[in-house]
Amino acid sequence: MITLKTTRELSLMREAGRIAAQALQQVGQAVRPGVTTEELGRVAHKAILSCGAEPTFLHYNGFPASACISVNNEVIHGIPGRKRVLREGDLVSVDLGATWQGYVGDTAYTFPVGKLSAEAQQLCDTAREALCEGIAQAVPGGKIGDISAAIQGYCEARGCSLVREYTGHGVGRAMHEDPCVPNFGQAGHGVKLRPGMTIAIEPMVNRGRAAVRVLPDKWTVVTRDGKLSAHYEHTVAITNNGPVILTLAD
Ligand code: MG
Repeated sequence: MITLKTTRELSLMREAGRIAAQALQQVGQAVRPGVTTEELGRVAHKAILSCGAEPTFLHYNGFPASACISVNNEVIHGIPGRKRVLREGDLVSVDLGATWQGYVGDTAYTFPVGKLSAEAQQLCDTAREALCEGIAQAVPGGKIGDISAAIQGYCEARGCSLVREYTGHGVGRAMHEDPCVPNFGQAGHGVKLRPGMTIAIEPMVNRGRAAVRVLPDKWTVVTRDGKLSAHYEHTVAITNNGPVILTLAD
């Protein structure tokens, strides 16, 4: 069921989103060669708690941390680990959520660790810009497929591929609500976009092929071909004034 949010609900989601975005920013400031992903997870956890919010991801379906931290060929759902040390040139994707007064803000960003290769930089630029392309389609009267097609078209034109098994989603009182927001599809198809809908748009973009698999830890999703992946996400409200990004730090 798709829920339309009232103005009051949107302002609570804006606050949840702000807290999540600030936590993500703090994690980004802690990214450097030599840091462990566990330390980054701890930064996320403390940042969310310090605002009086709850880390949405902690214990969600049994997930053991407050942020998913995925390195290089890991796409999403990486578990922070004390043995996982970041090195110069790595890509580190951080996905986290904050729950504020019952409403969720969900956001992700792929940070460079030091200087990236040209290939890694191009992947990040493509994925980040694809998110913007998708957000631009989040307008009343449009369809979910408009968002999907914009993201897919942008990435594939630049030689990248989109993960199929995981998608964006509605978000609100629950982290995962209807509708699904795939990162591939056809313009003009799917659910009609209406004012008050709130969705998480989150392209997961691979440098190589689209295929992924889940590691034996039952969480970490990696590319099958071992090539790099990048992930950017914003929680977005569809309004009569156009798309409003709810996960901004200020
Ligand atoms: Mg999400």
